[in-house]
Amino acid sequence: MSDRKLFDPVTIRKDFPILSRKNRGKPLVYLDNAATTQKPQSVIDALSSYYSQNNSNVHRGVYELAEDAENLYRSARKTIADWLHVNPEEIIFTRGATEGMNLISRSFAQPMLKQGDEIILTEMEHHANIVPWQMVAKETGAEIKVVPLFEDGSLDLNKLSEHLASPKSVLLSLCHVSNVLGTVNPIERIIEEAHQNDVKVVIDGAQSVPHLKVDLRALGCDFFVFSGHKLFAPMGIGVVYAQSSNLEKMSPYQGGGDMIDQVSFNGTTFTTGVQRLEAGTPNVGGAIGLAEAVKYLEKIDFSRAHPHEKNLLSLTREHVREIPGLVEHGTTPDKAGVFCFSIDGVHPHDLATLLDAEGIATRTGHHCCQPLMKRLGHEATARASFSIYNTDEDVVRFTSALKRAVSILA
Ligand code: PMP
Repeated sequence: MSDRKLFDPVTIRKDFPILSRKNRGKPLVYLDNAATTQKPQSVIDALSSYYSQNNSNVHRGVYELAEDAENLYRSARKTIADWLHVNPEEIIFTRGATEGMNLISRSFAQPMLKQGDEIILTEMEHHANIVPWQMVAKETGAEIKVVPLFEDGSLDLNKLSEHLASPKSVLLSLCHVSNVLGTVNPIERIIEEAHQNDVKVVIDGAQSVPHLKVDLRALGCDFFVFSGHKLFAPMGIGVVYAQSSNLEKMSPYQGGGDMIDQVSFNGTTFTTGVQRLEAGTPNVGGAIGLAEAVKYLEKIDFSRAHPHEKNLLSLTREHVREIPGLVEHGTTPDKAGVFCFSIDGVHPHDLATLLDAEGIATRTGHHCCQPLMKRLGHEATARASFSIYNTDEDVVRFTSALKRAVSILA
């Protein structure tokens, strides 16, 4: 990997081998980073090295190889915890953000919820932060309250305050950054207000950690989830941060190996700590890959990611200004580099197909946010989402192709 004191996307992209491949015979412009990010060579190498040099099951082996795998796995947890400014004992490995939400809702919330309790969500949530809560609400008789949005994609904070002040509210779960609108929610003050009202807070950080440096100790939320694959790491690994006093209250989520103390046919006792919530053989390679991704981000000036992606968004807006009937969804001032849009009379899937033919990878559909789509009045929208390795040239290629596509389709 090249040494970079400065944040230089042109240099950074050289660390990502896939970015030099072609898409439909044209140089790839990858603008689907909110769906998943590409992986730097160092992460690919870490995975390859783990499987070629250190692969073994963890926790039980006494041979050297098993110890090596165990040490790598333990040190991966520590790297990730340090990066988030929390203790390794508060980091639970999952398959991703979706499994994280299911874990929290089943293991922490369900046992404490009772009939009439209120769970607060917002209109901008991903299905991963809606459906698990609906499932536990159905089983416990709890009710879901939804905080509405303003036209610009910001939360109605007065409505949120009203919900938080309700004596029935017990838990608030919301995204840090919206995967559609790019809205960066003011979670610092929201967490503070929720805690003043004795309401637990779960943060869906799937779209924030790839763009913003997050200090969980300073934030003080109860839970935080994210997926490794959106953070330059492999698929199939994710993290739940559970603040230690909440962790103690979590009941086992899945049963099996690795999470027990004693098992007999008369009953089972469980082990302590995060291992109690990580049944079965873990994704050791994935955890090592995620730690390597974090190390990669520590080598670049990651504080410049958000400003850089915002610049790409501004440039995009300048270039598409003359496209008739184009509406951007989400226009809050400090939004993340996500450009989600609709064009009058143009179906987003047709648009994406024409962009694809020019080598440009964007996403269309409901983005796993059907309630938000309903609020926006569209079945589907188009989305270009930026990352650290996207350049001005990517924006020029994207917007030029977009104009050509619109001239054909409109
Ligand atoms: N929350 C948000 C805001 C997301 O954007 C996503 C992924 N699109 C998820 C949760 C779910 O992530 P995963 O599919 O990796 O579990």
